[in-house]
This record gives sequence, structure tokens and C-alpha cells, in this order.
Amino acid sequence: MVLLSWFRKYLEYPIIYKILIGFVLGIVVGAVVGMPIAYLKPLGDLFIRLLKMIVAPIILFSLVVGAASISPARLGRVGVKIVIYYLITSAIAVLIGLGMANLFKPGVGLHLAGEAKAITVKPPPSIVDVLLNIVPTNPFAALTEGKVLQIIFFAIVLGIAIAYLKESKIERVSKAADTVFRIFDGLAEAIYKIVRGILQYAPIGVFALIGYVVAKYGPGVLGPLAIVVIALYVGLFIHIFLVYGGILSAFKISLVKFLKGAKEAMLTAFVTRSSSGTLPVTMAAAEENLRIGRSVYSFTLPLGATINMDGTAMYQAISTIFIANALGVPLTPVQQLLIVITAVLASIGTAGVPGAGLIMLAMVLEAVGLPLTDPSVALAYSMIAGIDVILDMGRTMVNVTGDLAGTTIVAKTEKEIDLKSGVWSK
Ligand code: ASP
Repeated sequence: MVLLSWFRKYLEYPIIYKILIGFVLGIVVGAVVGMPIAYLKPLGDLFIRLLKMIVAPIILFSLVVGAASISPARLGRVGVKIVIYYLITSAIAVLIGLGMANLFKPGVGLHLAGEAKAITVKPPPSIVDVLLNIVPTNPFAALTEGKVLQIIFFAIVLGIAIAYLKESKIERVSKAADTVFRIFDGLAEAIYKIVRGILQYAPIGVFALIGYVVAKYGPGVLGPLAIVVIALYVGLFIHIFLVYGGILSAFKISLVKFLKGAKEAMLTAFVTRSSSGTLPVTMAAAEENLRIGRSVYSFTLPLGATINMDGTAMYQAISTIFIANALGVPLTPVQQLLIVITAVLASIGTAGVPGAGLIMLAMVLEAVGLPLTDPSVALAYSMIAGIDVILDMGRTMVNVTGDLAGTTIVAKTEKEIDLKSGVWSK
């Protein structure tokens, strides 16, 4: 009985406070007990598995409903706006990253390699291949493999088809289409219910995940690499407060209220290090806190979780410069600008999973003529890899925040946001 009333109290307590308590407790316990906290890691893995479980269904169901509820012309408009926003903000993120790297000069004086090498630039990845890959050859395989862009493509096509059939003059067809629509609608609602349940578990998962990171990496990692961490985190904060803050205020939206609405998603991204994994929480934030219409966010958020990675783009700029500095071959401003193009392109089409940015970094390095086959590049790269978890937490948080900020703005221009309720009314 006592247990039951405790449980009820737990459920009633606001989720964000519970998550914050889990977060702080995790840091303290991780620092105090050290590695034995690894025994609790399965609790964190469980949280991530639960989130991943619903990623493919949530994209499919809510996007089919979303696409079926708005006109194709409008969908196209939303698409163009959000893609422009995603590209511009990612490019700005890289520029801020370059600024931070030139300011903090990470890696200078490490002298990993004796001889300086000439730096050549290779062309960025082929856009044609990236675009062609969006069309699935088998939509069911796309679902089972969690290929987000392919699921998005198929869901939009299916949603538009249902929307047309609902208007059919043949009664049998219009009724059938309506039934299919309702089924997807019901499934989408059911998934949201599941998300709310998973969020009740989030504090425990967060506790275990952050505790493990603190115990494993400790303050010790902050040796020569501290500058990289500082440069990235300062850049990320500038990006949130100046860039997102500036863009939001240009659209007459308060950054403070926006952040209040986004905080659960931001914290979940921070500890799970996965934009895709955080997607259910991000969507719930758009629906319940930011009061954005499903027809907008069901499309822009899954898309953003895959192609919009401002934090990752910034991380690549800083890490590339760290590696070049560590090797004693600083990049010229022109070469640095080439990082912008490569980093933005490299971030498109890469899944929002932990550590994806580290793999993409190898591509950027290759493009600026620092291939991993060079032993000293490999050494510097492995230094970054050693602290990648810490860098990944911050960059993923910004990745997700950027998706939500863009979605909020596009929703505002489409009048698909209720600015009188949710966080806006407080
Ligand atoms: N973990 C990041 C994300 O999911 C991607 C990355 O590794 O940069 O957004």
C-alpha cells in the first residue's frame, strides 16, 4: 500500500524535475562509487532500447497522419522552408566552430608529427547518391533497418495517397481511405501514450547513463583535450543563445519559453547521445509543450533528426583544426572554408546515433587531406575518439534543439502553432 502511494506520488511529480534529479544523482554517485556503477548500466541501456523501439513506428504513423492532413502544396512549402533553415544554421554552426578553434587553438604545441604535409582537398560526397538513397527499394526493409529518410519518403507518399483517396467520389474508396487514416491516427496516439510511459522511466535511465560516463571518463580526460571540450561547449552555447535566440526573436518567439518547452528533449539528447533515439521525446515536446501542429512537426522533426546536425557540424570543424594543429599543419582560411562545405554535406543523410559524428569526422579529414591512413592523423583522431562521448553529449543536445527551433519557426510562419497555450501561456 505504502509502495503504491509512493509510486503514485512519483508519477505526479513533474517529469523534468525527476529527470534533473536523476541526472545530478547520477553524476554524484558515478564520481563517488566509480566503476562499480557499471552494474547499473543496463538500466540506462533499457531506456535507450525503449526509445529506439518506437522510433520507426512513430515516424511512420505520425507522418502518414501528418501528410494526409495537409495539402501537398503546403507540405512542399514546409519542406523548402525547413531545409533552407537546416542548411543555413548548420553552416553558421561550422563558422562558429571555426571561430572557436581559431580562438582557443586546440592542439597547438602537441607536435604529433615531425614533418609537415601538404594539404590537398578532395571533392565532398556525391549529392546525387545521397538524394537517390532517400527512395527505398523496399519500404519494409527501411522500417526494419531504421532508415529514417527512406521511412519519411514512403510515409509522405502513402499519406498523400490516402489524402487523395479520402476525397474520392466512389464511396467504397473514400470510406476505406478514411478507415485507414483513422487506424494510423489511432496508432500514432497509442505511440504517444507509450512515449509518456517511457518518460516516467527516463529519470532512472538518465541516472544510470550519466553515472556511467562520469565513472568511466572522470575528470582525468580533461587533460590536453580540455581545450577541445571547452571550445566546443562555448561554441554550442553561443549557437543556442545567439543563433537560435536571434532567429526565434526575429520571429517574435521568446527563447526562454522555447527552451522551457524543449528541455526534456534537450536533456534526453544529452544523455542518450542520439537524435533519432530522442525523437519520440522531441515530438512530444513539440506536441505538448510547444503546441505545434502535427502536420508540421511530424515531417520536420524526423527529417531534422537525420539531416540537421548543427552541433555535429561544429564539432567537425573544431576537431579537424585540433588534428591539423596537433600535427603542426595549420589550415589556411580557404581550407577552413572548405571544411564548412564538407561538414555540412557530410552531416546530411547520416543517422542520429551515438558516435556517428566521429565516423563522419573521418570523411571530413580525408577531404582536407588528413587521411586516417597517416599514423599521426590516426593518433590525433584516436585522442578525439577517447573523449568523443563528452563531445557527443553536447553536440547531440544542440542537434535536437536546432530541429525544434526550426520547427517552431516554420510552424509560426504556417500558423500551425498555438501561442496561447503550453509553455507560451506561462
Ligand atoms: N550523436 C549525434 C546525434 O545523434 C550524431 C553525432 O555523433 O554527431 O545527433
